[in-house]
Amino acid sequence: MDKDHTMEIDHDNQEPAVMLGFAEPIDLEENGPLTAQDFPSKIGGLPIWLNPEHIPESKDLTCGLCKQPMAFLLQLYSPEDHPAEAFHRMIYVFCCKTGTCHRLAPSDSFKVFRSQLGRFNPYYSPTANDDDPEEADVEEDPNWKPLESSKHAKTCFVCGLNAPKKCSKCREFFYCSEDHQMLHWTKGLHKTLCGKKPLNLDTKLASLSLLEKDVKKHHGDDENEDEDEEMEQPQIAPEDELTKEEKEYAGRLKIDFRLVERVARFPEFEVISEEEVVDEKAKEDGYDHESSGDEQEAEDGWEEKLKARRKKKTKGSGNKDDDVSDDLKGATNALVPVGDELYENTQTDIDRAFLTFQKRIALFPDQVLRYARVEYELENPEPLYVSDIGTPKPEDILPCPHCHKERSFEFQILPQLLNYMAIDHSRADALDFGTVLVYSCKDNCHVKGKHYLDELAIVQQFSEDGMQGKNMYTSDNVAVSPAK
Ligand SMILES: [Zn+2]
Ligand SMILES: [Zn+2]
Ligand SMILES: [Zn+2]
Ligand SMILES: [Zn+2]
Repeated sequence: MDKDHTMEIDHDNQEPAVMLGFAEPIDLEENGPLTAQDFPSKIGGLPIWLNPEHIPESKDLTCGLCKQPMAFLLQLYSPEDHPAEAFHRMIYVFCCKTGTCHRLAPSDSFKVFRSQLGRFNPYYSPTANDDDPEEADVEEDPNWKPLESSKHAKTCFVCGLNAPKKCSKCREFFYCSEDHQMLHWTKGLHKTLCGKKPLNLDTKLASLSLLEKDVKKHHGDDENEDEDEEMEQPQIAPEDELTKEEKEYAGRLKIDFRLVERVARFPEFEVISEEEVVDEKAKEDGYDHESSGDEQEAEDGWEEKLKARRKKKTKGSGNKDDDVSDDLKGATNALVPVGDELYENTQTDIDRAFLTFQKRIALFPDQVLRYARVEYELENPEPLYVSDIGTPKPEDILPCPHCHKERSFEFQILPQLLNYMAIDHSRADALDFGTVLVYSCKDNCHVKGKHYLDELAIVQQFSEDGMQGKNMYTSDNVAVSPAK
């Protein structure tokens, strides 16, 4: 174990902070696709594997109920300082795409994996994650080279999982299963594009960043650009170097990718995080939306928070008053949102957790995730429940199956995420959930030779009480659909 990463516990710290996650469209034209080098937190599209050599197989990711392959829902990059093997740490969440399964067996419809790498690994330079490699506390080995991409595992074109099969005709496309090969053939354009690729197109496309994902850096922050990476980037050729035939093929490849995405994947977004700041004034004003007013804070994700902790730099906490939930718990007459207005409700059969949930969410109505492990060493954080009913009991939070130690709450997925998932709510089998609570091994345990460690998802549905029509909060940004 690396003795340098001694965790410093700051006992003076107040209430644990919560980082909110927001779904932002990825500007492909401007920034290019997200890459593993970005250590991305993202929703939908294809998973980006922290460990490109070892990738889960589709048989590890089938729905517990319908046995169909699950779809990639999201991944969060949340590095930790203990143990040293959790220097890079990614949580992956997959789920069944069928709402029927979610209703009948909610927790069997989700799967959560944890993937970790130490600072010294075959894929990323030890300073890959440092804002300023110059100031990193490790020496960069000038001879260090990442594992060649030819040695990376092949991934399924449809779902991004390990792909042992390939199209036997063109030998260009890889699949996890025959099902996904068939899906590409029938729902995508592969039937017409198979074997039609113009010569030399790969090299040209790679240089245009249409196929190779490593070409363009996502962050336009030039001064922080890793020099090694820059040297490996192929020359960017102007698009007009392509012949008419090549252009047409490249264009159809893009359409092919989108067609398959529509059928088999969730729409892709980047997760942008911001600390939840609730100030006195906002509380007095009836919990209206208040921005933190701190741009730097807004740009820093929980990765940054964790890194800051790793560097033992404690930011001045300012006036981060975070005791809203206590305040709400003490309220005698709950406010019931009806349309755009809040009404006082004096009835006793109200779902108090649901009201607390609504009010807390209304401060930042676009939030899709709440990440609570930011200062987890203080105490086990509590989720924001969507109902008084169905809150997990201590015995529901199963210990880590790998080290048998305690799991603690890490983050929750909010129903607001469903608004971004292109779900047809008129369908009886539409995907639906209240909130998905993700619990992970408190020790970030490392098991030699095991690249994906199982973590726990507990789904809480809205209660009938909380969802009786008039209690529903809806706005342009929030559409909470009742549990059926
Ligand atoms: Zn299913
Ligand atoms: Zn697949
Ligand atoms: Zn083919
Ligand atoms: Zn463990």
